[in-house]
Amino acid sequence: MSAPTLEAGLDDEQLAAVTAPRGPVCVLAGAGTGKTRTITRRIAHLASTGHVAPGQVLAVTFTARAAGEMRTRLRALGVPGVQARTFHAAALRQLRYFWPRVVGGPQWQLLDGKLRLVGQAAARAKAGTDAASLRDFASEIEWAKASLLTPDGYAAAVAKLRRETPGPVEQVVAVYAGYEALKNRAEMLDFDDLLLHTAAALEEHSGVAEEFRDRYRCFVVDEYQDVTPLQQRVLDAWLGERDDLTVVGDANQTIYTFAGASPRHLLEFPRRFPEAVVVRLQRDYRSTPQVVAAANTLIGAARGRVAGSRLQLVGQLPPGPDPDFTEHDDEPAEAAAVAKKIARMVADGTQASEIAVLFRINAQSEVYEQALTEVGVPYQVRGGERFFQRAEVRRAMIAIRSAGPVDAPLVDAVRAVLGPVGLTAEPPSGAQQRAQWESLLAIVELAEELVAVEPAADLPRFAAELETRADAAHPPTVQGVTLASLHAAKGLEWDVVFLVGLVDGTLPIQHADGDDEAIEEERRLLYVGITRARRQLALSWALSRQPGGPRRRRRSRFLYGLIPDEHPASRIANGGRGASKPRCRVCGSPLIGTDALKLRRCGDCPSDVDVELLDRLRGWRADEAKEQQVPAYVVFTDATLTAIAEH
Ligand code: ATP
Ligand code: MG
Repeated sequence: MSAPTLEAGLDDEQLAAVTAPRGPVCVLAGAGTGKTRTITRRIAHLASTGHVAPGQVLAVTFTARAAGEMRTRLRALGVPGVQARTFHAAALRQLRYFWPRVVGGPQWQLLDGKLRLVGQAAARAKAGTDAASLRDFASEIEWAKASLLTPDGYAAAVAKLRRETPGPVEQVVAVYAGYEALKNRAEMLDFDDLLLHTAAALEEHSGVAEEFRDRYRCFVVDEYQDVTPLQQRVLDAWLGERDDLTVVGDANQTIYTFAGASPRHLLEFPRRFPEAVVVRLQRDYRSTPQVVAAANTLIGAARGRVAGSRLQLVGQLPPGPDPDFTEHDDEPAEAAAVAKKIARMVADGTQASEIAVLFRINAQSEVYEQALTEVGVPYQVRGGERFFQRAEVRRAMIAIRSAGPVDAPLVDAVRAVLGPVGLTAEPPSGAQQRAQWESLLAIVELAEELVAVEPAADLPRFAAELETRADAAHPPTVQGVTLASLHAAKGLEWDVVFLVGLVDGTLPIQHADGDDEAIEEERRLLYVGITRARRQLALSWALSRQPGGPRRRRRSRFLYGLIPDEHPASRIANGGRGASKPRCRVCGSPLIGTDALKLRRCGDCPSDVDVELLDRLRGWRADEAKEQQVPAYVVFTDATLTAIAEH
């Protein structure tokens, strides 16, 4: 592949990162500015100019799908054989290889979900064993492991961080320690153990480290803003004393701090590697100026510790439609309206796979699955156990597991095994049957993906790969409208994006209330959602959960400022003022002057007013406030509002 082709379609800043000599490179940039494109090209550039062999590059992406896409793109650029994987998949592979030397004996099995063992540990610790408590303990254990905290170090660390724990600290410690003991006794590995053992293998076995470092010489990490201390430790173990590392990330898209991730590693990269080539990108190549403007407005209002670059995105694409804002009476009505719009778009020629419906929590998916089934549009649910929990997928996995070795080539063998499970040659009619068929087809595509990197893979190997993915909640791609949580949507893009369920309590999620950092993470989630859209963005919310239910919900506080003043929905969301001039967020007077426009606050208003609180209260109509039994004086005795009243 000649260099000019590799350099085509890159701007000057991207090119600087692509062609930087081997060594540390850091790209700090906003959504849609071409970070992923840049690292893919950089790998291709280094390989095609002979600086490194493709097989010596290890690229880490956030999802298995992103890894697959990167491998596909690199193959298309004439560079096959690059290892593009998630941290976990890379670690699993290395651990399998090094196991005989670092542990010995049969390889430990991957734990299929940790709730059962957490339940046993909780019972022994006399802690709560209901489903919600177990889930809370399990995520706390994940956070602790991702933060490199052993049960011994946990108590001191949470005290220092003033972290809210899912029960008395001694109890959490007991559950954590009990879980680890049960798991180790059963010779099982959980997901975080893959990383811990990999790091330990390299740190403690110099022979293993030498062999590894001989094999991999160049490292690339996408979505580096969400790296956890545990992942960073693995990365450091991979690198050793070397510095051939390219990282790209956007602090404004940090959305996993709840799971231990931190943008600190990204932001401190230039300090850690003073000789690093640091590139900042600002041009957004993904979205229309309308989408870019919404993203800029939202993130421009961000505050707090993680506030990344204040750089605004500069849209490069031609204009498209304005974002669409719609309020609905109840959730099923919202879902039905979204499904109807989608059906119309599909009938008008938009590909279903170019449309996504994104929501805050997985439970919101159900009502959209139903609504899309009713209008006969195929869909796939991403980002969750859901794919691997589907009945047809479970049946398929059992069939593959019990088929035993067949080395017909893997893809043919998988097709043969899935025939009796429902993989017909032609897609069946009926939305649900079609969705099931597409799940099975997605499994075949996974087999194709595996063969591309491991030509000798057989059915038992594929069965193991499926188990890994099921455990990692890394579902494959299926054609159809994508239903995904905002967390699962990161790095991806669609022509049309519906952001649904935008009510306070869902986005921002209820438990973030009162915690400024958590609220800001919710804002970044919406930023990730908005920036997934190439052309068209539709935002919606419903005032009640069920038809006829009390209209208790309020549109998300983040919508303030996004809805243009002249839009019908702005009457309430923007504080009941429908005038088209930009107005002060506090007192509502028209704004004059660039500074005032930028701050959306007039020079006369006090600067410490909690605008979000104000927005929330302002959004309450008198009838709603009455229904919520909020006495009027609450609104008027709040300190910030008193300040405004005086003003
Ligand atoms: P995110 O932060 O969401 O992960 P990103 O910075 O990784 O976004 P990419 O996914 O690499 O952005 O690129 C966004 C879109 O813009 C893609 O469709 C990509 O092909 C396109 N793109 C990137 N750079 C250019 C360019 N120089 N010219 C034209 N299109 C580009
Ligand atoms: Mg990206």
